[in-house]
Amino acid sequence: MTSPDDSSGGPSSSPSDGSVNGSSARVLGPVVDDQTRCVHYAGPTDVIAIRFHCCGEFYPCFRCHADTADHSLSVWPRAEFDTHAILCGACKTTLSITDYQATDACPGCGAGFNPGCELHYPLYFES
Ligand SMILES: [Zn+2]
Ligand SMILES: [Zn+2]
Ligand SMILES: [Zn+2]
Repeated sequence: MTSPDDSSGGPSSSPSDGSVNGSSARVLGPVVDDQTRCVHYAGPTDVIAIRFHCCGEFYPCFRCHADTADHSLSVWPRAEFDTHAILCGACKTTLSITDYQATDACPGCGAGFNPGCELHYPLYFES
């Protein structure tokens, strides 16, 4: 009755999540839902995560980075503002820093971005 030849379901088959952006971005830190809200900022418009210049990892906010990373953050220099460092947690679209600063909603899904984040730009981006 045993079937030693278990040839079904290879463990490492290609993922089929339909993502076309090639962005399998993982978001670090104390994230509380699948739209990158965190324990610090969990309002309805807190749907983005930011890739940090210092380590290249996505965190929902600078406080997540401070809590989780073992180094202090560095800000994006203006010369690199075309880097896609913003991740919309709602649809996983990425935006460049320039595009993010010029809009208040996600171009991919229309989710509104928290206007209060603007106060924190100097924490992430050279000003
Ligand atoms: Zn870092
Ligand atoms: Zn946070
Ligand atoms: Zn979106």
